[in-house]
Amino acid sequence: MHFKEFNLNKLLQAGLDDVGFQEPTPIQEQCIPLLLQGYDVLGAAQTGTGKTGAFVIPVLEIMLKEKKDHIRTLILSPTRELAQQIDEQIFALGYHTDTTSCTIIGGEDFGKQAEAIRAGVDILVATPGRLIDQMKVLDVDFSGIEFFILDEADRMLDMGFLPDVQHIIDKLPNTRQNLLFSATMPKDIHKLASNIMKDPKKS
Ligand code: AMP
Repeated sequence: MHFKEFNLNKLLQAGLDDVGFQEPTPIQEQCIPLLLQGYDVLGAAQTGTGKTGAFVIPVLEIMLKEKKDHIRTLILSPTRELAQQIDEQIFALGYHTDTTSCTIIGGEDFGKQAEAIRAGVDILVATPGRLIDQMKVLDVDFSGIEFFILDEADRMLDMGFLPDVQHIIDKLPNTRQNLLFSATMPKDIHKLASNIMKDPKKS
């Protein structure tokens, strides 16, 4: 199929045209409609499959329907590098939209990140440790979060981030939509998914 069949917002379609995405990858073809319909999704996804687009595209599409001035999407990544790659894809795909995003990761200016959080950037792409450091200093307003995405969840668990992830999730509103991607699906991932998600669709 072609991306045009999703009838996406033309500003988002322009971003897809810029980066040369014409046909969705299998994970995108499965996940995009589910997320657009409001389902939680538990996805088995390896790096290189187009998993980033599978959540960035529907999240941008839904956010474009209504402009708001608070943090609406939280994406957690186990590493700085992955967070930066996700943010780059948000920037490229969302280039023609006025969607704002920021990485909240170690090794980068703490003050600038705090400013973006205070200003109510649309999308935060964070590693758990640095986000928790910000939460110690700032009263981060998560009350308007509509989407929570946990990328590479198995790596997150392997790196010992589960308590941090849980601490962050506890601050999010229950009304949010969730997506959890993991390359492997051990018991701990299923347990985490059943704790945080409502009847997820599997992809
Ligand atoms: P990811 O698995 O999200 O890290 O994506 C792997 C690579 O595939 C990245 O370089 C993306 O820019 C590229 N990519 C993702 N989706 C598509 C698509 N639908 N068509 C062409 N390239 C894509």
